[in-house]
Amino acid sequence: MNKVILLNKRPVGQPRIDDFKFSTCDTLVAQTGQVLLKALYVSVDPYLRGRMNDSKSYVPPFEIGKPIQSGIIAEVVDSFHDDFKKGTFVSGNLEWKEFQISDGTGLNKLNVSKKELTLHLGILGMTGLTAYLGLTEIGVPKAGETLVVSGAAGAVGSVVGQIGKIMGCNVVGITGTDEKAALLKSKFKFDHAINYKTSPNLTEAIQKTCPQGVDIYYDNVGGEISDAVLANINKHARLPVCGAISLYNNTEVSIGPRLQPIILTKSANMRGFIIGDFSAKFPEALKQLTDWLAAGKLTYAETIVDGFDNLPQAFIDLFSGKNEGKMIVKI
Ligand code: NDP
Repeated sequence: MNKVILLNKRPVGQPRIDDFKFSTCDTLVAQTGQVLLKALYVSVDPYLRGRMNDSKSYVPPFEIGKPIQSGIIAEVVDSFHDDFKKGTFVSGNLEWKEFQISDGTGLNKLNVSKKELTLHLGILGMTGLTAYLGLTEIGVPKAGETLVVSGAAGAVGSVVGQIGKIMGCNVVGITGTDEKAALLKSKFKFDHAINYKTSPNLTEAIQKTCPQGVDIYYDNVGGEISDAVLANINKHARLPVCGAISLYNNTEVSIGPRLQPIILTKSANMRGFIIGDFSAKFPEALKQLTDWLAAGKLTYAETIVDGFDNLPQAFIDLFSGKNEGKMIVKI
């Protein structure tokens, strides 16, 4: 039988295993104009949490009783479609099923070896593009400036900091464990790393670590961590608002300090974005990321969880920081 994972109910607060339903569906046969896909690697992402709520957003909510979807790398195992030969690797926004039928819509062919596939869910996929375009288009880094990034040891954050270094910035990462803080400095070459869980006063810790103030704040987490960074920004600071994972499980609207006086008096540019806003720039961004990776200027971390049945837990674990770099489930 073909395994599938459905949304069982809408999570309240922190998502739980029983918000998901493990089910099966019939064995599938591709028809003319279709391919049969076998899932190989599945991306779990914080934004999926928003799609589990019944609220209007930039993507429609998941429906109860229907499969969850996310970025998936699959292999074409049977084809009646002229564009996709059997054995081709593809990526696309697909359903959490071991096998599924596609008419090819939205599938990208991946002309790479099997061992490079996961890169296309991470550094050469959505999270790498998010890091590069959010930083360069909104952060506009200049050599000598101070860049602070939150969620720094995750898929997006670890790439943001490295690009900041390539561009000559002084880079400070904020993360949730000492091990991740050490990794930021050793593997990703950040200048400084702060553990937000053990810093008694984060505002002061940032002030000490950034004596010249903060010119760019790449925000992946929102909430109190971002309040502490904002208290340290310089005039004309740029603040790409990429994510707010610390708030995704809130059941009530979180109220923090009012930001307008800081944004006003610092003439700061705080701008939210969804990566699709920059879709016209994907080819050039991908080329740059690929070149840097090949030249050894960028590196990456992946946390690979084994087994289809572990998909929901891997997703839940994003909210307690179990991942270093990109969280991926191998099927
Ligand atoms: P990550 O790989 O960074 O994984 C999530 C990380 O968030 C965890 O490892 C954890 O690290 C940290 N975290 C979890 N809960 C909290 C909390 N309460 N407070 C602070 N940190 C927390 O995920 P991604 O790199 O995929 O995504 C990073 C952010 O970027 C997310 O907010 C996501 O929604 C956003 N995003 C936005 C996109 C866009 O188009 N705007 C596209 C892609 C991602 P730690 O151990 O350090 O706490």
